[in-house]
Amino acid sequence: MLFKPAIPGYLKTMSEPPHKGEMSFRGIPVSAGVVGVVRGLILVLDRARPSIGQRQLGEQEVPEEINRLERALVQTRQQLLEVQRKVSAGMGAEEGGIFDAHLLVLEDRTLLDEVVRMITEQKVNAEHAFHSVAERYAATLAAIEDDYLRERATDMRDVTTRVLNNLLGLQDEIDLRHLKEPCIIISHDLTPSNTAQLDKRHVLGFATDVGSKTSHTAIMARSLRIPAVVGLKDVSSRLESGQYALLDGINGVLIINPTDQTLFEYGELIRKQVTLQEKLRDIQLKPAVTLDGHRVVLSANIEQAGDAEQVAANGAEGVGLFRTEYLFLNRERPPNEEQQYQAYREVAVALKPLPVVIRTLDLGGDKFLAHMPIPQEMNPFLGWRAIRFCLQQQDIFREQLRAILRASAEGNVKMMYPMISGLDELRQANGLVKQYMEELRQEGLPFDPALEIGAMIEIPSAAIVADSLAKRLKFFSIGTNDLIQYSLAVDRLNEKIAHLYEPTHPAIVHLIKVTIEAAHNHRIRVCVCGEMASDPVLVPLLIGLGIDELSATPSLVPPVKFIIRRLKLAEAKDLAAFALKSESASEILARCQELARSIAPSLFEAK
Ligand code: PEP
Ligand code: MG
Repeated sequence: MLFKPAIPGYLKTMSEPPHKGEMSFRGIPVSAGVVGVVRGLILVLDRARPSIGQRQLGEQEVPEEINRLERALVQTRQQLLEVQRKVSAGMGAEEGGIFDAHLLVLEDRTLLDEVVRMITEQKVNAEHAFHSVAERYAATLAAIEDDYLRERATDMRDVTTRVLNNLLGLQDEIDLRHLKEPCIIISHDLTPSNTAQLDKRHVLGFATDVGSKTSHTAIMARSLRIPAVVGLKDVSSRLESGQYALLDGINGVLIINPTDQTLFEYGELIRKQVTLQEKLRDIQLKPAVTLDGHRVVLSANIEQAGDAEQVAANGAEGVGLFRTEYLFLNRERPPNEEQQYQAYREVAVALKPLPVVIRTLDLGGDKFLAHMPIPQEMNPFLGWRAIRFCLQQQDIFREQLRAILRASAEGNVKMMYPMISGLDELRQANGLVKQYMEELRQEGLPFDPALEIGAMIEIPSAAIVADSLAKRLKFFSIGTNDLIQYSLAVDRLNEKIAHLYEPTHPAIVHLIKVTIEAAHNHRIRVCVCGEMASDPVLVPLLIGLGIDELSATPSLVPPVKFIIRRLKLAEAKDLAAFALKSESASEILARCQELARSIAPSLFEAK
């Protein structure tokens, strides 16, 4: 056996015979790592836990049992602080911050009081009491359809295992620090404690039964730059350590016992990926300029302050969309003015003199807050959301606007409102900004009085009245994700009608065109920050229509820049002229694909 498990049965042995024949499992790709695909032996971590026996205590044993529990809690806290320190030093503060949630479990008075009550009243051993109570909490959280709460269940189980190991005098559940051979880790889930211990030199990638794009496993994998696929259902119970596998972090596939043909095809793919990555790296510091000298500004979309580092790393020229609502999610109460100011300031200072466009709160639709119950609505995407919510919840809006204004004194900050449907909302929001500028002036707090304010054009009515909005704004940013949803009446989250969600629908092409014309008539700039700007196939069309700036997902900035640098403005204009005359979404899409593949074939070969 290669690895000696600290808890018998936790690790499946590598000596059992492997299955014959190729088997493939499809999951969610959450990290492509450096080259997207890795090959090697798998190491399956078993889900078996130590059996927790129940022991009846005598009356006089109860106080010592409670002391034992307290000692185990202190020991666990020390271990977690140590892991957190190491992770923060080795991987960064954001990854280290994951352990804050673990430490909070150890301070959860409701849980701990219940454990102590169980020991005292039922006179049972600490292991049994702790395990029963914590598992009940974790199972309740895990059953809720919410990625954040499910992640809390994983945290709770991770901490529970540590506390139980300490009570039982066992070492950590598994020691992943001393892997001797490179392997792909397969597990039901990987806890942050496991992941933090991984010896990067020997872990080729991970594949897990559960998880989502926002799960901690995914965050860690992206940070370690190794491929990871999650959501593979029951894969960990179907495989044995020692089988040979190929993990494709681009397409989200795990292939066991790949045939020679599969290996050959993947070998080609890996070679092409490596070549493409080299080409993308070569242009990282170069501008997004077409072959005939037309310059486009290429920025990135971010969700939190910690993402700022990915902006420059991917060769973007600033932030075109900072989705601030993510600061409000996953926490017990909304961040106050000071906390928001610190987050906005951090990004502004890190990227100075590059611009950072901060979007005001876009809550509602699919983004809800646990701490701010919004009444259930029949049509949440058409409901009390974004600017509509903020204009009615002025306490919340005030704190955010003041925080953004204060951050504007520290860097090149711009601000935009989401979901503007017409002039009245714009006037009201601008009125509040004026009022808060006055407040800050009176308080002697600095801000940039010339702060540029823009609006997202993501509701068809805004595109239609773009002329009157453009007179009063410094820029537009077209939110194609919502613009498509609202123009075509296609819920962007509904898989059943996903085929109707067509970015190249003639109506969308025309709405983008009228928005650009209105903006340019008033000499203001237009960006596209919806997902269309991250798709190399659609970027030439946007450029041909006259877009000044594109703001893409950070990891997609390099391929978007790559296609821009291989494009001629004249070709893009021809494509746009064709699209404006066409009556068919599929015909426009086909022309976009044809142009993209002809000018940048290598972008499409590596898939
Ligand atoms: C959009 O609608 O295109 C957009 C960028 O906003 P979000 O995706 O955050 O709704
Ligand atoms: Mg939107």
